[in-house]
Amino acid sequence: MEAYKAKSIDEVIRLLSQFEGKGKVIAGGTDLIIDIRNKKVKPEALIDISSIDELKTIEDLGSFIRIGAAATFTDLVESSLLDENLYGLKKAAREVGSPQIRNRGTIGGNIANGSPAADSVPPLLCLDSTLILRSIKGEREISLRDYYEKGFKIGEDEIISAIQFKKPEGRQILSFAKLGLRKALAISRLSIATLLEIGGDNRIKTIRIASGSLGRHPLREYKVEEFLIGKDFNEEVINEAVLVLKEAMEERLKGRATLPYKQRAVERVFKDAIYGGLERLKVVEA
Ligand SMILES: Cc1cc2nc3c(=O)[nH]c(=O)nc-3n(C[C@H](O)[C@H](O)[C@H](O)COP(=O)(O)OP(=O)(O)OC[C@H]3O[C@@H](n4cnc5c(N)ncnc54)[C@H](O)[C@@H]3O)c2cc1C
Repeated sequence: MEAYKAKSIDEVIRLLSQFEGKGKVIAGGTDLIIDIRNKKVKPEALIDISSIDELKTIEDLGSFIRIGAAATFTDLVESSLLDENLYGLKKAAREVGSPQIRNRGTIGGNIANGSPAADSVPPLLCLDSTLILRSIKGEREISLRDYYEKGFKIGEDEIISAIQFKKPEGRQILSFAKLGLRKALAISRLSIATLLEIGGDNRIKTIRIASGSLGRHPLREYKVEEFLIGKDFNEEVINEAVLVLKEAMEERLKGRATLPYKQRAVERVFKDAIYGGLERLKVVEA
C-alpha cells in the first residue's frame, strides 16, 4: 500500500483521481485503520489529510459557521465559536470516546464512515448542515439530510472539505444527550440532539430533533417535530412527545433485540436533551 501525506486539498483530489477509486483518504484513522486490519477495505493508497490547515479551520462566516472536515473533536471542544447556542455540537464532541480518540478523530471522518452512532451527526442534522465536497471536477454541496435520507453518495474521487450550517437564531438552543455502553470508550447506543426555541407565549416556535442509533443511520425525527411544533411547552406535552418517538422507533426497529432496551432508555435521553438545552440557555442568557 502506498502512503501520501498531502499538503493541500488540490493534491488530495489529484491523487484520488489518479488512483481511480482505489485510493482512500485517511484523516484520524480511528475508523479506517480498524477496517483495514479487519480487511473490510483494501486501498492501494492512503492519502493522509491530517496536516492540511485549510481542512482544519473552524470559521465564522457571519450568519454561517464552516467547519473544516479534518477538524478533530478536540478542535471542536476548544473552539469558542461553538459556545452559547451551539453548545450541543460541542457537547457531542466532548463526549466522544477517550482523549486519544478526540485528538485524532475528525468530524469529516465521523460523517464519511457512515455509522448510525456517529455522535456529531444528530446535532449537524438539527442545524440543517451542508456538506461541501471537492473533486477535480470542482466543488458541490449536498445537504446532510439528503446524504442520509436520499442516499446521496460521496464519490470515490471526492472529499468532504467542510461542513457548513446557519447559526441558530434568537433563543434557539442546540442540545445533545447520549447513552453509551461504557463511560469512556463508548460508541453511543442512543443519542438525541434537539434544536429548540420557546416563544414568549410559551409555545414551541422551533423544534428539530435528530437521533443516533435509532435506525440504519442518524435521522431527523419528523413525526415528533410535527407533534411538538406550536404546542404549549410543558411536561405533559413532552411526555406525549416521548410516546410519539417510541411509536416511530417501533416502526423502524420492529423485531430487533435492542428495541425494548432502547424504548426504555429513549425517554431519559430525549428529556436530557430538551431540559439540558433549556438549562444551558439560562447560562447563555445570564
Ligand atoms: C475506541 C473508539 C471509541 C470511539 N468512540 C466514538 C464515539 O464515542 N462517538 C463517535 O461518534 N465515534 C466514536 N468512534 C469512531 C471514530 O473515532 C469516529 O467515527 C471518527 O470521527 C472518525 O474520524 P477519523 O478522522 O478517525 O476517520 P478515518 O478513520 O480517518 O476515516 C474514516 C472513513 O472516512 C473517510 N474519510 C475521512 N475523512 C474524510 C473526508 N474529509 N472526506 C471523505 N472521506 C473521508 C475515510 O476514507 C474512511 O473511509 C470511536 C472509535 C474508537 C476506535
